[in-house]
Amino acid sequence: MNLIENLNKIKSSLPKDVELIAVSKTRTNEEILELYNAGHLVFGENRVQELIEKQEVLPQDIQWHLIGHLQRNKVKYIAEFVHLIHSVESERLLKEINKQAKRYERIIPCLLQIKIAEEETKFGLEIAEAEQILTTYKEKFQNVKIKGVMGMATFTDDLEQLKREFKTLKNTFDSFQTLDADIKTLSMGMSGDYELAIEEGSNMVRVGSAIFGERTA
Ligand SMILES: *Cc1c(COP(=O)(O)O)cnc(C)c1O
Repeated sequence: MNLIENLNKIKSSLPKDVELIAVSKTRTNEEILELYNAGHLVFGENRVQELIEKQEVLPQDIQWHLIGHLQRNKVKYIAEFVHLIHSVESERLLKEINKQAKRYERIIPCLLQIKIAEEETKFGLEIAEAEQILTTYKEKFQNVKIKGVMGMATFTDDLEQLKREFKTLKNTFDSFQTLDADIKTLSMGMSGDYELAIEEGSNMVRVGSAIFGERTA
């Protein structure tokens, strides 16, 4: 498994306006450093504990994205350095991110995670809830900035279903852009579906196993 080859192959296939997040959950620091030394600085983690252990010892100019479920009591551990939080799924969480960002005199960029999977999922906002947050947060929270939306499609081979789910998120993104000029990022697509996600308008893809190989942990 040549990580750099995998990364470069994917990178060269992406349109230039699409950003690649290398999802490094469960991967070792050595694997991350291999890509870092080849010039890739953008990584995504889904667990806070793992993220802070890696952030502490790896180069400080890595841009760390938190892509997984975030508990409010853990925000304080990542507020100083996190580059983008993809998984804001309640106003209470946004409020806590704002509070912790303030302690570090930062404005933390965030995405609203939208429920797009047709299967039952625990995580993500309904579109109406997300719109409610987007249109009211600025008066309350000065230390966060909502930069876009994120979604996870159903884990399925059904291309028509995936397309429907991606289209739902793209339509939400478009309508949010008309409401707020800060909305720029549409985070959708993983190893199995990022090409389709890009066809459907994604400009940020979160790719793990297609770079690092199948996860065993
Ligand atoms: C693990 C994960 C990914 C990457 O998954 P792969 O299938 O390995 O590319 C993307 N997004 C989120 C939120 C994840 O948890």
